[in-house]
Amino acid sequence: MNDNRKISLKVLGSGTSTGVPLVGCSCPVCTSADPRDRRDRCGFYVSLDGFGIQIDVSPDFRNQALRHSLPRVDAVIVTHAHADHCLGLDDIRRYNTIQNCEIPLWAREGTLNSLKRIFGYVFECPPSQVGMYRPRLAANALPVFPEAAQIGPFLVRALPVPHGPVESVAVELAADSRRIVLCSDCSAFTPELQALAREADIFVLDGLRDRPHAAHLTVDDARAALAKSNCRIGRFVHIGHDISHAELLGRCADTPRIKPTFDGEELEI
Ligand SMILES: [Zn+2]
Ligand SMILES: [Zn+2]
Ligand SMILES: [Zn+2]
Repeated sequence: MNDNRKISLKVLGSGTSTGVPLVGCSCPVCTSADPRDRRDRCGFYVSLDGFGIQIDVSPDFRNQALRHSLPRVDAVIVTHAHADHCLGLDDIRRYNTIQNCEIPLWAREGTLNSLKRIFGYVFECPPSQVGMYRPRLAANALPVFPEAAQIGPFLVRALPVPHGPVESVAVELAADSRRIVLCSDCSAFTPELQALAREADIFVLDGLRDRPHAAHLTVDDARAALAKSNCRIGRFVHIGHDISHAELLGRCADTPRIKPTFDGEELEI
């Protein structure tokens, strides 16, 4: 292992599908002055040796790329085709220009099919639109655990997880014997997910709010699962407007390794 090579994880968005603040909401969290209470839709940027993978491309992606000066996007992974995870895909085209190449897009077969339907003009450009500025993406079927895909320096494994009536995937990125597991949308901490996340260097898990939700874990579910995984750094994500960051931090005072994440949090391992 080369200790000088650091894997960097940037949390681009920590919020649920509406984002926080919600449009038209005047609750204490939506009107909070604490910048950590501004929660964009979910997205992560993981990089090593200048190779950057974008995990999920939310409708907030353009602003996230600007805010974090994301230098390049060498590959895109989409966990599932919910609007909050894929509607920023069109803005990847700027990186086609910067890098002067097609960019690989990885997703499970069913998710790829949904993306091809939503973004028909990207994948099957009608003759009338040839020459229009659109993303150039090479679609790849993301193999499912225990199969793995080598994406740049990362060995990537995708584990299907229940997400209410549909499925999403937990994504494990491994390099130099270090592992990050990202699972922003998930309604049950399954035995398979427990096994994948066990002793991960970083484990980021869905923790929406206190009230149960059919498609997401609660904050207490997430905290218990993160503790059980014995991960080195645990964060919960996909957070709604019900609880402020300061209050969540207060609840986690006795678990320094396990906390809510926030937009712009950067972790290195
Ligand atoms: Zn979501
Ligand atoms: Zn609110
Ligand atoms: Zn979702």
